[in-house]
Amino acid sequence: ASGSEENDVVVIGGGPGGYVAAIKAAQLGLKTTCIEKRGTLGGTCLNVGCIPSKALLHSSHMYHEAKHSFPSHGVKFASVEVDLPAMMAQKDKAVSNLTRGIEGLFKKNKVNYVKGYGKFVSPSEVSVDALEGETTVVKGKNIIIATGSDVKSLPGVTIDEKKIVSSTGALALSEIPKKLVVIGAGYIGLEMGSVWGRLGSEVTVVEFAPDIVPTMDSEVRKQFQRALEKRGMKFKLKTKVVGVDTSGAGVKLTLEPAAGGDQTTLEADVVLVSAGRIPFTAGLGLDKIGVETDKAGRILVNERFATNVQGVYAIGDVIPGPMLAHKAEEDGVACVEFIAGKHGHVDYDKVPGVVYTHPEVAYVGKTEEQVKALGVDYRVGKFPFLANSRAKAIDDAEGLVKILAEKETDKILGVHIMAPNAGELIHEAAIALQYDASSEDIARVCHAHPTMSEAVKEAAMATYDKPIHI
Ligand code: FAD
Repeated sequence: ASGSEENDVVVIGGGPGGYVAAIKAAQLGLKTTCIEKRGTLGGTCLNVGCIPSKALLHSSHMYHEAKHSFPSHGVKFASVEVDLPAMMAQKDKAVSNLTRGIEGLFKKNKVNYVKGYGKFVSPSEVSVDALEGETTVVKGKNIIIATGSDVKSLPGVTIDEKKIVSSTGALALSEIPKKLVVIGAGYIGLEMGSVWGRLGSEVTVVEFAPDIVPTMDSEVRKQFQRALEKRGMKFKLKTKVVGVDTSGAGVKLTLEPAAGGDQTTLEADVVLVSAGRIPFTAGLGLDKIGVETDKAGRILVNERFATNVQGVYAIGDVIPGPMLAHKAEEDGVACVEFIAGKHGHVDYDKVPGVVYTHPEVAYVGKTEEQVKALGVDYRVGKFPFLANSRAKAIDDAEGLVKILAEKETDKILGVHIMAPNAGELIHEAAIALQYDASSEDIARVCHAHPTMSEAVKEAAMATYDKPIHI
């Protein structure tokens, strides 16, 4: 029942922004259609992003542990080998189970799903070049653009997804490269570099900026970089790629200091380009209906996610803000709540960021540099996992919890965690921040022993008073 029947909401794009918006709209009683060109739901995140990368991170971590850590825990094998096709099959199974799961959620919530490429004909009509069958026109009182993002290419570097790959190619290599060069030290490059590094690749990360992951607190970032270096990852910071030669068996990169200077070369079997992502609006017909974008091609919206065109909204990676799946989901829910005449809310200052390497790094709120720049008097409380009994018990005690709180009120401003499971630990801090808690509020909550979470409590104690265990 798509076609000519008018919908209350039409969503273009079935990624975490789009599919969540569609389900929420249907739950609010709105007649909803979601258009997706990929053939499967879940967008970048489920198909070629968050989920396959976490599957490979987990599998490669198990291999690495089995090879390097199990013996010291008294678990021995005659030999440990990688079966790459099996590892990839496991990843593909996780992806297909989850994408099919969303189709199930669409059926359950009565979201109409149209497979095809959507293009604006008017602000209330989208023509869909169907993946199978004919072109249809889907009408909607409200249309939400959730078309996401795509890999940013570098000038002079042509991605062939074989020797020079994007994250998509890096998730599906058929062989373990001997030498992998990663261009760009953001979280995607570091995660994919970790996967192949654990499986045996020699990994060098080339980054134009002076630092890896620019959004990270610099003290934690330094420890993080050391932790990655300890695991064999090499870094060439303040360095730009000025030439790529693919004429030989591998790839020869020509590098130059960012500030200019002598050139050097670097050989690789595979080069991963992970220098950022750009909003994807190709073929959507934005100019036809006059939707405004900024210089970077991001769709401009107001606080209700409305574009300058009446009835047309945008959410997720295609609008300004952190390009993260959970942010896209929050956008989707809030946008639909506004459309339904309710109130939506996304607090962009409290979107957690997680790098899923080993150890993981997770953070929410402000970095120390940001707090300093605001001119706020603040206190810092830190607690190392070396002094946490659970981390010691499992022999995985690298990292720390760092809490920043306003000096006068003790209100928490930011929390930064490096730990094996930092991505799970961070949500206690996210709740604290959302409720304007003080560090003493966290410290006075009873935390189970022995858990990694006790390090959060102790760092909170260290913020306004003294920790017990160090
Ligand atoms: P997308 O997920 O990009 O979905 C947009 C969808 O719209 C796509 O499926 C596309 O096919 C479809 N589409 C586009 N144009 C049209 C059209 N005209 N008609 C029909 N359909 C169309 N984020 C995290 O939070 N955590 C992570 O661990 C994480 N890991 C990542 C790892 C990698 C390797 C990558 C590449 C990204 C990762 N991300 C992660 C980022 C995350 O994937 C994105 O932030 C998220 O997918 C954005 O959601 P979205 O719905 O805005 O867009």
